[in-house]
Formats: sequence, C-alpha cells, structure tokens
Amino acid sequence: MSAQMKRTWAEVSMERLAHNYHALRGLTPYGTKFLGLVKADAYGHGAVPVAKELEKLGADYLGVACLDEAIEVREAGVKTPILILGCTPVAYAADLVKYNISQACYDLEFAKALSDVAQKAGGEITVHIQCDTGMTRLGFLCHEETIEKSAKEIYEAVNLPGLKAEGIFTHFSDSDGSEEYTMLQFGRFLGIIDQVKALGYEFPIRHCANSAATLLYPATYLDMVRPGIVLFGHLPDASMDPGLCDLVPVLELKSRVATVREVPAGTPVSYGRTNTLTRDTRLAVIPVGYGDGYSRGFSNKITVLINGQKAPVTGRICMDMCMVDVTDIPGVKEGDVAVLYGEDQPVEAGAGIINTISYELLCVLTKRIPRIYL
Ligand SMILES: *Cc1c(COP(=O)(O)O)cnc(C)c1O
Repeated sequence: MSAQMKRTWAEVSMERLAHNYHALRGLTPYGTKFLGLVKADAYGHGAVPVAKELEKLGADYLGVACLDEAIEVREAGVKTPILILGCTPVAYAADLVKYNISQACYDLEFAKALSDVAQKAGGEITVHIQCDTGMTRLGFLCHEETIEKSAKEIYEAVNLPGLKAEGIFTHFSDSDGSEEYTMLQFGRFLGIIDQVKALGYEFPIRHCANSAATLLYPATYLDMVRPGIVLFGHLPDASMDPGLCDLVPVLELKSRVATVREVPAGTPVSYGRTNTLTRDTRLAVIPVGYGDGYSRGFSNKITVLINGQKAPVTGRICMDMCMVDVTDIPGVKEGDVAVLYGEDQPVEAGAGIINTISYELLCVLTKRIPRIYL
C-alpha cells in the first residue's frame, strides 16, 4: 500500500522545518550556537529524519532525553554532537564513550561515576553541568543558600579525570509565564557560572534558552540556544504573540473518509450513546482514534476539516475510528481527505479542548501513523 493510501498519516514538511530553523537563527546573533531538540521522536515528527535535516541545516548540537534516543540518532549516521538532557544509568554509561554522546551531569556522585566509567573505557565523556536554578527537576541546586556548596562541587566535578566539561546549562520552568521568575533563574545561573570561574574553571558553552526564552529574552542566549517546540512551528504557550517569530507548523495529520452513511434522527452514536442525532444525518466514518494518539477527550468537541469545511466529531472517539457529521458538506465521499491537524485546524485547538499543550498532542501520535516526509 502506498503511503498516501494509508488510513491515517502525518505529513512532515522538511521545508517548513528549515523555514523555522532559519527564522530562529535570525533571532540570535552570529556565533550563537544552536541545539535543536529531537527528544520524544522529535516531538512526534521522527527523530532520525529531523536530526538529519538539522545536521544538514547546520545545527551545532542535538538534544535528546535519554541514551536510547541518542543511540538511535547516532546509528542513523548523524555526526553532530548529541547531548542527553536526562539521566543515564551508570551501568550503560560506557555507551557514552562508545557512541561519542555528551551527557548532562546533575550531581557530584554521578560525575564521579562517569569519571570511573570513562577511565575504565580508556576514553573521555563530554559533560554539560546541569544547574537547578528553580525548575526543581535535575541539577546542582543553585539557590542563594546552596550556590557556594554547588560551585565547589561543580569545580570538583569538572576536574575529574576522564570528564570533559564542555558546557554548563540550566532549564527555565516558567519562561512562557513569568519574566520575574525567569530572570531570578537567569541571575542564579550567571551567579554559579561566576563562582565556578572564580574557583578557576570557565565553560566554553553556557546555555539556558528554551523556546520561550529564545523568543522573549535575547539576554539569555549566552553561547547557545536550545529551542524545541518552536522548531516544529508551535508556540510554547498558545497565548504568546505569534508575531514574535515567523513560524509555520511542520506536521499535518490527515486521514480519509472510510465510508459515508445516512442515519435517521433519534439515533445514538458510538460508545456510551453520548450523542443522539437531532436530525437525519450523514455521518462520515474517519479511521482515526485514540489508538493513533487522537485523544478521546476530543469526543463531541472537535471538528475535522473535509473539503475545507468543518465537520464536528459526533459521539465518542473510539480506539480506531470516529464519526463526523458531514450533513452540511455536500458531496463528501469515501476517500476524501480529512485534515485533523493542519492549516485552519491547529493542534492548539485540540490542546485547548483537553487542557493540555501542543507538545503533548504531537508526542502522543503513535507508531501506527506513518510519517511522510515532504
Ligand atoms: C525539552 C527541553 C528543551 C526544549 O523545550 P521547548 O519548550 O520545547 O523549547 C530545552 N531544554 C531542556 C532541558 C528540555 O528538557
């Protein structure tokens, strides 16, 4: 079956990815490095094709969540430096040497373990020191009370044999919300960098700007920016000003009308009979459901676009199918394309319905959905 004949598919536009990459690069001064996030299968877009494209475009670094993701990208032939932002079990740390992958280093104990592994492997592990300035997830705690202790520990870590301390970074927890808190975090980050410098170590790559900070706070760029969601054409928060950067959505989720049926008024539709038709209705069956990552929470609330017109989802979304009302759209027939996410049908609308963010809806698209690269 050719890709376009599939029941439901995602079209991923490399041209649009390149457009966003260049738009973001346009924000940062010449010389600022660029780490492109490809974690969670590149936010559902496909880690390997996106990583290859970012490499081609000239990204300096790629970011992943874990070792498996890093190895997948390396084994596909990508040579660009890769940074694991999450935890790697020490038992697998030798793979960091083997595959030449950089690792976030979030405490002294882990640094010592990595140092041992690197020495035993007869190699070197490149680390980026992770500072917890207020996200409260991972990293040397850099609050005012702990900064001095952390500076000493970081200085000890960067001098361990077998470790190459290439970078230092922190992560903002509210850069799409509070400027005040973001600047508190940024101040703490500059503080720890200064304290470690005073002890005698300077990091070549200091980085902290995620998507929101890349759009809003040029002062935080330092040596490298680290945008994720904006690469894929979505704002970190749907209420942010779309004028901040010229971004275009990279992924469109599409399906095809599987069949159309006429159903009389008074008939209940789908599981739980949550929707009883109030008029004679033409229902199109669309072969997409929560088994594809199309949220059951959209039931009775979302529309899909068929022939450019909105068709409301009627009744509960099933695992593999849902029904949409096409009574008001003349001529809908088997095979017509239904746009689930795309132009005039933004992911953000779905996210709003179930009170989540575009990130989640993109990440949950399952492997049943083939990604077609344009
Ligand atoms: C996911 C992640 C990012 C990117 O976040 P976006 O909001 O998608 O830009 C940056 N840094 C770290 C540490 C992350 O985990």
